[in-house]
Amino acid sequence: MFENVVAFIRELYNKPSGVIALHEPCMCGNEKKYVMDVIESSCVSSGEYVNSFEKKICEVTGAGYAVSTVNGTAALHTALLLAGVRPNDEVITQPLTFIATVNAVSYSQAHPVFIDVTMDSMGLSPDKLEEFLKVNTKVSSEGCVNLKTGRTIKACVPMHTFGFPCRIDEIVSICRKYHIQVVEDAAESLGSLYKDKHTGTFGRLGIFSFNGNKIATSGGGGCIITDDDELAAKGKHLTTTAKVPHSWEYHHDTVGYNYSMPNLCAALAYAQLEQLPDFIRQKKDLANRYRGFFREMKDIEFVEGPVNSSLNYWLNAIKFSSKELRDTFLREMNDNGILARPVWSLTNKMPMYAHCQVSDLTNAEALENEIVNLPSSIIKNG
Ligand SMILES: *Cc1c(COP(=O)(O)O)cnc(C)c1O
Repeated sequence: MFENVVAFIRELYNKPSGVIALHEPCMCGNEKKYVMDVIESSCVSSGEYVNSFEKKICEVTGAGYAVSTVNGTAALHTALLLAGVRPNDEVITQPLTFIATVNAVSYSQAHPVFIDVTMDSMGLSPDKLEEFLKVNTKVSSEGCVNLKTGRTIKACVPMHTFGFPCRIDEIVSICRKYHIQVVEDAAESLGSLYKDKHTGTFGRLGIFSFNGNKIATSGGGGCIITDDDELAAKGKHLTTTAKVPHSWEYHHDTVGYNYSMPNLCAALAYAQLEQLPDFIRQKKDLANRYRGFFREMKDIEFVEGPVNSSLNYWLNAIKFSSKELRDTFLREMNDNGILARPVWSLTNKMPMYAHCQVSDLTNAEALENEIVNLPSSIIKNG
């Protein structure tokens, strides 16, 4: 039924047979050179590339400070602690996200509360958020208290799905009214802007991931950004076992984490960041080709970015008119070696989160059955 799609994607990647992955890294710059530097220096764990990488992240995003971490999940866990999330607090997030967003809330021993997404951005809906807070909470000296559970809602974690910015400015202003800290899960949106401002820089803190499937990768890696110098210093401290600086003594002043990014990975990440504008340009071309192709197809819609946004084009997405058609499409693509993937199953349906409080989830439940991601790697020699 979808032979034409298979043929189009095979031609796009100039790959008449074999597997076409969802997203592969492009190591086309100084990766080998910088990694060799590190190997020859023997500073494989901590070293200068970590500093260069953090400086580069500040340049790219406009954030005041960056703290690199071993992965995006560790960045999010640390950011939640920095935002003041404590055991038995609550954290609002969206159900349509990668499981790591919600797991980081659990690592902080807090309880997730799931609020719906918008249909266009697929990120947290400011309207649903405000409605939920208005009906279900009151602001007291404790902060924002959930009337149903008696717990404090300490933070809100909106996520910029597939690099599409959510309506983050509205979310931040609602949260400010309710004394809720915003931590942006920008794991997927490095290079994406909303109203000309980089995603991740609207909230008190933001995080990125440099996992192998993201737009820029260090194998594994992550980063926290903030404009608050004290939070940044505390973040560095927490992610490096909370060791008090001293030439030879081992003194640690709290339970810290071994969450720092190895210098080897930072060398890779730095080389990738040098190419980010190139990656985005090439991915934009790819998106244009998909858009052109799907314009002619009924029952399938190419998902466009929301208004006021400039995308990183990380993953291309299409939307089906029914779940049956979507399943037929997925089966046919995967049987033919084209690793198209459905959007995540909603996190509130996983056994460990099934008891969590939810808002009306009409949009997330619709999108769960309709959205498919297409192979979106940069076309090499393209
Ligand atoms: C990738 C990702 C993460 C986690 O990043 P890791 O580096 O894999 O730990 C968190 N949230 C979202 C939305 C992601 O896509």
